[in-house]
Amino acid sequence: MKVFKFGGASVKDAGAVENVARIIKQFPGKDLVVVISAMGKTTNALERILDHYVKGEPAVWEKFAELQKFHEEIVRDLAVPGEALREKLELLFDGLKNNLEREPSDNFDFDYDRIVSYGELFSTLIISYYLNAAGLENVWADARRLIRTDARYREARVNWTRTEELVGAKWKEIEAAASKGGRSIMITQGFIGHTEERNTTTLGREGSDFSAAVLAFVLVARDVTIWKDVPGVLNADPKYFKEAVLLKRISYREAIELAYYGASVIHPKTIKPLQNKDITLYVRSFLKPEEEGTVIERSTFSDSLMPSYIFKVNQALISFTPRDFSFVAEDNLSELFRLFDEHGMKIHLMQNSAINFSVCTDFVPSKLESLIKRCKTGYEVLYNAPCELVTIRHYDPDTISRLLIGKQVLVEQKSRSTARMALTEG
Ligand code: ASP
Ligand code: MG
Repeated sequence: MKVFKFGGASVKDAGAVENVARIIKQFPGKDLVVVISAMGKTTNALERILDHYVKGEPAVWEKFAELQKFHEEIVRDLAVPGEALREKLELLFDGLKNNLEREPSDNFDFDYDRIVSYGELFSTLIISYYLNAAGLENVWADARRLIRTDARYREARVNWTRTEELVGAKWKEIEAAASKGGRSIMITQGFIGHTEERNTTTLGREGSDFSAAVLAFVLVARDVTIWKDVPGVLNADPKYFKEAVLLKRISYREAIELAYYGASVIHPKTIKPLQNKDITLYVRSFLKPEEEGTVIERSTFSDSLMPSYIFKVNQALISFTPRDFSFVAEDNLSELFRLFDEHGMKIHLMQNSAINFSVCTDFVPSKLESLIKRCKTGYEVLYNAPCELVTIRHYDPDTISRLLIGKQVLVEQKSRSTARMALTEG
C-alpha cells in the first residue's frame, strides 16, 4: 500500500481537486491511503475566525460565511451529482457554528484545536465525494478516531501503540469491504488527531506530512509520496535563490538535517518514522506528476555534496547576561530554557560564553517582550531583530563569502558539514 499526501495548495480549488483525481488514476490498482490538508488558505482563515471568536467580535460570522461560501463554490464547480455532499457539508458547517456559539474555554489551545481542525474535515469530505463520483471508490475515515494523541493541544504527541491498533482495525475493515480483488482507498485528514476522551487535537501547523508518516508507519506502507507545488527537494528555497537545483536522491539522514534547519519542503517530524521502517519517501510535483521529483531513502551513497542553503528570516538574536556578573551556568540555562518553553519560543541556534548566552528564535514581538519582562531582574537582555539565520549544508569558503556580501555576521557556528550564521544587513 502507498500513502499519498496532498497539501493545501494541491486542493485549493475545483481544478486542483480534479488534478488530484488525475494523479490517483495514474496509479491504477494500488491500495492507497490519501492524507489531505485543508483547502488553500483555509487554516489561516480559521485562525482568524478563532481570533474573532475569542475576542467576542461579531466579525466572526462574516468570516464564517466567507469560508462556507468558498467551500460551497468548490462543491458547485466540481458538480458532484446528488444532494448528499451538499447536505453533509452543511452539517459540518453547522458543527463549526455550534463550536463558535459556545463560550470560549479558559484553554486557548483546546479551543484552537476544536475549531481550526474543521478545515481538514471540509476538504476530505468534498474530495472523498468527488473521487467516488469520478470512479475512484474510497472510504472517508475520521482522523479523530484514528490518530490517538496526548492532550498537549496544538502540538499533540502521537500515542503510537493506540494509533496502530485504531488505524489497523480501520484498514482491515476497509479491505474487507472492498469488492473482491478490488483496490482499497482510504481518504483521511492530515494535521488532526484526538485524545482518549475524544477531544480533537492538532499536530502543529503544517503537520499533515507528519500525519502521512504516522499512517505509513503503523500500516507499514511500501512508500509515501508528498505531492507539492515544487519539483521536489531543492538545494535552496526558490523564493530566495534563483538557481535552486533539485536533489534527486538523498538519504533520510540528509533530509532530516535539511528539514530540521528549516527547509520548509517537508515537516521535520516526517522522516524519522519512515526511516525506522525503511519506507521510501517521494517528494513530487502535483503540477508535473510525470516528473520523478526527489527520492528519500536509506542509502547515503547518493547524498550530494552540493551546498544546500536554508534561510530563516524574521529571526531575533537575543543575548542574556546575568546581572550579578556570575558565569552563565546550568542553573541560569535551565531557567532560561524553561522560559522559552513556557512562551512557546523555539530555539533555532544557541551559543554561550562565560558571561553571555545567545539564542536565535522567531521574532514575535509580543512573546519577546513578555520573555524580557520575566527575566529582566536577573539578566541584562539585548536583542537584534529582525535578522536572518542562514544554514549551509556542505559549505565551502566560496559559497559563504558570496552569501555575506552586504551582511554583517552576528553569530557563526561551523561543524564539518554545516555552517550556520545569524546575519543582519551590514
Ligand atoms: N492545514 C494545516 C496547516 O495549514 C496542516 C497542513 O497543511 O499540513 O497548517
Ligand atoms: Mg497547509
